[in-house]
Amino acid sequence: MMSRSTTGMTALVTGGSRGIGRAAVRRLAADGYRVAFTYAADQAAAEETSRLAEEAGGRAVGFRAEFGARGDAARAWAAFDAAAADHDLGGRLDVLVNNAAVGGVAPLSALDEDEFDRVFAANVRAPLFLIREGLARLDDGARIVNVSSLAARLATPPMIAYAASKAALENVTLALAKELGPRRITVNAVRPGTVRTDSWNALSGGSVEAESAVAARAALGRIGEADDIADVIAFLASPDARWITGSVVDAGGGTAI
Ligand code: NAD
Repeated sequence: MMSRSTTGMTALVTGGSRGIGRAAVRRLAADGYRVAFTYAADQAAAEETSRLAEEAGGRAVGFRAEFGARGDAARAWAAFDAAAADHDLGGRLDVLVNNAAVGGVAPLSALDEDEFDRVFAANVRAPLFLIREGLARLDDGARIVNVSSLAARLATPPMIAYAASKAALENVTLALAKELGPRRITVNAVRPGTVRTDSWNALSGGSVEAESAVAARAALGRIGEADDIADVIAFLASPDARWITGSVVDAGGGTAI
């Protein structure tokens, strides 16, 4: 039995201007949530996300928030409050999707402390403190979905800091599931394999061979699409996922089985 409908509920997705975040915004808007999303800099891309949400029959409001510097979480919530007031979003939250992240290829030989700190600040500190600073806005029974990566559980030497940051985010997911359980707030993570996004295109240079190699590793025989992940996020955010917390859902098409 559905415990509640999603219509009129509010969701915030970080990094909604493209890729998986954009697909999640679109899906949640189509499901009836009032959606807010952050973007780092590309206002035109954010406007396109809002247009796609409207096309899907919903509404999504973008606001600018940069993650990775101290105080980023508090600044993001101040920007959320302003956007919520301007766009009648209500100011309370039922769903928080921590999707924004930075990455990049930096094997041990090329890794320096600044790069390590940059990746951990954006991928671990920012979502952790976004949750901490946002607790008063999250309703009891709210959903938190953290976007991890298959890299968290595989040896990934070329992206060692990124992979370690996602492993840390998964442990944050576990700890907060325990901590926030008494408020019926669920905290879960989704672990995508390789997904066709701008970051994949940049990494692969659009190489057909690279995509074929990715597809060959997946039991389901293809590269992931942003919607494949957005649908999992939407499920974990939904009332139907009320009994799931502290889980990491592998969404890699059977790449690591
Ligand atoms: P992307 O790089 O295309 O987009 C990332 C989004 O995050 C953008 O909206 C961008 O504005 C925002 N963002 C990036 N850096 C930011 C910063 N410092 N401050 C604020 N916002 C910032 O991302 P994607 O490929 O769609 O990935 C989304 C999530 O999925 C990330 O957490 C990523 O680690 C994870 N993931 C992606 C893949 C993949 O193959 N694409 C695989 C596994 C996991």
